[in-house]
Amino acid sequence: MTAKRVIVLHDERLANSAEPSLLQLTDLKPVVADGLLADQLGRQLHDLRISVTDRCNFRCSYCMPKEVFNKDYPYLPHSSLLTFEEITRLANVFMSHGVRKIRLTGGEPLLRKNIEILIEQLAALRTQDGGKLDLTLTTNGSLLAKKAVALKAAGLQRVTVSLDGLDDAVFRSMNDVDFPVADVLAGIEAARQAGLGLDKQGHFSGIKINMVVKRGTNAEQILPMARHFRGTGMVLRFIEYMDVGATNGWRMDDVLPSAEVIKLIQSEMPLVQLEPSQAGETAQRWGYADAMGKHDPSLGEIGVISSVTQAFCSDCNRARLSTEGKLYLCLFASQGYDFRPLLRESSVSDKANDSTITTALAHIWRGRNDRYSELRSTMPADKTSATISGKRVEMSYIGG
Ligand code: SF4
Repeated sequence: MTAKRVIVLHDERLANSAEPSLLQLTDLKPVVADGLLADQLGRQLHDLRISVTDRCNFRCSYCMPKEVFNKDYPYLPHSSLLTFEEITRLANVFMSHGVRKIRLTGGEPLLRKNIEILIEQLAALRTQDGGKLDLTLTTNGSLLAKKAVALKAAGLQRVTVSLDGLDDAVFRSMNDVDFPVADVLAGIEAARQAGLGLDKQGHFSGIKINMVVKRGTNAEQILPMARHFRGTGMVLRFIEYMDVGATNGWRMDDVLPSAEVIKLIQSEMPLVQLEPSQAGETAQRWGYADAMGKHDPSLGEIGVISSVTQAFCSDCNRARLSTEGKLYLCLFASQGYDFRPLLRESSVSDKANDSTITTALAHIWRGRNDRYSELRSTMPADKTSATISGKRVEMSYIGG
């Protein structure tokens, strides 16, 4: 009697002893991928975020607070991480369903040894219509100065660097490991020198700078950051502090709404709102304006990512893969679909397994109706976000 083939659904809310629910694969009608896969809300799968490590050398309090992510924290053993070949196989299946953009994340992805090899493998993949993949990576910049040239040579096109302030003391307190801001700025410069993020117009719009804004912690860094990156071509984005995971002690009082960030910048540098550059874009774009109030491209633009005050779930086309092969359908999810056993099942050929994964992914995505941020915004402010979804997966496990 052949063992029933299943995908295990890991649920953060269940005690380890509880029986996880299973997706019975044999019950699924086989699906042939055609590059178009929509969920319950009509959102086409387009972006895949892949976490390649659950480790990081920073301890940003809004993501990996030091008290929790200490030396006793149960980090994943290397053997449970997907290999580069397994990641590439899965990426290929996601691309057959329409993924055109892959973002490598973590933890800190540049801590994953030889990540250039994975980037080379992914850069060689082609989309359903034979096009090149839009391949990018989010990093804290601590290793970028050393790695920028090799990343570019391996096929990385763009990079996003997290930078929560220019003031060295503020930055060191935000990363909570006393890491100097100068080294991250040197990493950004190295990325520019290596030609990462160079767009067709010769601007560095492909280098994005992400600043998480926490009221009472680094809000006074907003204007210095805007002044610093204005006119460089790089795109600075201000991210509202979010209730991700279950460990950062999030409170609505610590959120500085993006509308206030825009008002603050406009008080010194005129801005004009710009059209989204593509469907599913998380950032709202604002261009620096000239004296006539028109966008002056030479001054560049900024973005605001407002998951708390202006939810953007309606066109969210992002899937997330954890470091050990679990698929999450939302940043604030509690459940993950475990693909690793299927990838490693040796009794069946990889080809057969990949077509099973193709079918399973189609059924899972078609059943997706996640819209956590929209739901959060309908909740009375005094209701904790745990009310909506219970315990959620950690952002450092599935990438931001
Ligand atoms: S809350 Fe979830 S569904 Fe909404 S935009 Fe974020 S990841 Fe997408």
